[in-house]
Amino acid sequence: MKSQAFTTSVSSRGREKSRAKARNAMSTDPKKFPELPDSLWAATAPSGPSCPPLSGDRVADLCVVGGGFTGLSAAYHAAKAGAEIVLVEAAEPGWGAAGRNGGQVIPGLKLDPDDLERRFGAERGGRLVDFSGAAPDLVFELVARHQIDCGVRRQGWVHAVHGRGALPLEEERARQWQARGAALEMLDRDQVSAILGTDAYIAGLFDPRGGWLQPLAYARGLARAAQTAGASLHGRSPATRIDRNADGWRIATPSGNAIAKQVLICTNAYTDELWPRLSRSLIPVTSYQVATEPLSEAMRARLLPKGHVGSDTRRLLNYFCMTPEGRLVMGGRGHLRKGDRRELYAHIVASMHKLFPETSDARLDHFWSGQIALTLDHLPKIFELGPGMWSGGGYSGRGVAMATATGRLLAACAGGAVADDLPLPMVKPRPLPFHGLRGPAVGIAVAWKLLLDAWEARRR
Ligand SMILES: Cc1cc2nc3c(=O)[nH]c(=O)nc-3n(C[C@H](O)[C@H](O)[C@H](O)COP(=O)(O)OP(=O)(O)OC[C@H]3O[C@@H](n4cnc5c(N)ncnc54)[C@H](O)[C@@H]3O)c2cc1C
Repeated sequence: MKSQAFTTSVSSRGREKSRAKARNAMSTDPKKFPELPDSLWAATAPSGPSCPPLSGDRVADLCVVGGGFTGLSAAYHAAKAGAEIVLVEAAEPGWGAAGRNGGQVIPGLKLDPDDLERRFGAERGGRLVDFSGAAPDLVFELVARHQIDCGVRRQGWVHAVHGRGALPLEEERARQWQARGAALEMLDRDQVSAILGTDAYIAGLFDPRGGWLQPLAYARGLARAAQTAGASLHGRSPATRIDRNADGWRIATPSGNAIAKQVLICTNAYTDELWPRLSRSLIPVTSYQVATEPLSEAMRARLLPKGHVGSDTRRLLNYFCMTPEGRLVMGGRGHLRKGDRRELYAHIVASMHKLFPETSDARLDHFWSGQIALTLDHLPKIFELGPGMWSGGGYSGRGVAMATATGRLLAACAGGAVADDLPLPMVKPRPLPFHGLRGPAVGIAVAWKLLLDAWEARRR
């Protein structure tokens, strides 16, 4: 994998020192821009549309910074609504988490419907529940409408229960969604084993609204759809600075500037010093994935034979899918260090061999990782950054559907929607205290969660 981190800078808040440093580090030399990681998705996705770097001064209604699902969906929906859009992406569309994730299209949020209604009130909370439950519909609809070639399938998502301690929560979750008309059901040990092809779980929550797609292929398809709708997309164009002027905002990149009344910063877990208050409101954590070689027909008949996707109820969860060409892809999180050293993947490989012992002899063809943005309350948010400037993110590992749906909300913000119109909370960025110490803090949390997971798994 090539560099995951890259230097965009700089604050609009007068950090002249780091500005100068960043300007020196910036280059329009394409070789200096980050490349895609050596993922299975990069190896198999259809090529993306041409997105030349921004050049000269470009006036638009709206500038979108970041070309992941959030930014691409926002650009697509805003362009469809008739706005003139310039999107600037530091590398290429889908370079970030959008092109690296597990491809699982997951409905709902980490918090359950009743929790959300208790927290936000019946009406507001109810809208958030509906929004999160329907987010996969938008993804599947966009894929169908734009005939995006991304291996999409909607066989459902299984939340596999790893120990007795987690079972009541899943049963309660099923009950709450069923009460709202969603066709979720609990599966017993044998049913889960037949669907997933592992005996490791005692039960599972089946959600038919979920599914799978090849994430980078989807991101590239979305980029093409946004272009077709009229948006102007520019790769290798990191926003290095955002300044307010009389007409709105000026977004500088190394080879050109966008001048727009409104800005959407859609950089999520990859946000750095471009807008420090935003980056300090999110907690980035690394998630790792490995992909096997194409497995034998016999193994494919047993492991995830019907194409379901699964993740489990561990605090440090495992997630897995079978690709159309028969490779098992296994993902998980826990490590904080970035890099491509193989030992960072040891725990994921061990989990795969434990869950699916048949894969022990399978060759591993791809290893890659990416950044997930967490929030302290596990809820995604729309951040109000300034007049005519918003951001969206913090999907906490459920961004395929939620980022696509939030991008549409951000486009609505640019179109005049106000906080009360939106199902997601709109908040000011609130930098987390001790954000600089998040590495050690998350390390302690990870160790603690591992202990709890191991203890619960023994109570089977
Ligand atoms: C390994 C992994 C597995 C995951 N698995 C799943 C899953 O199975 N299901 C699920 O629902 N979610 C999953 N997620 C989460 C999901 O991928 C993300 O929530 C989602 O992709 C977020 O999309 P985004 O557009 O907000 O951010 P990103 O896709 O990260 O896009 C941000 C973009 O901003 C660009 N950028 C950053 N700074 C600048 C700048 N200054 N100027 C211009 N551009 C900039 C970056 O280059 C990047 O392309 C996973 C995430 C990871 C990392």
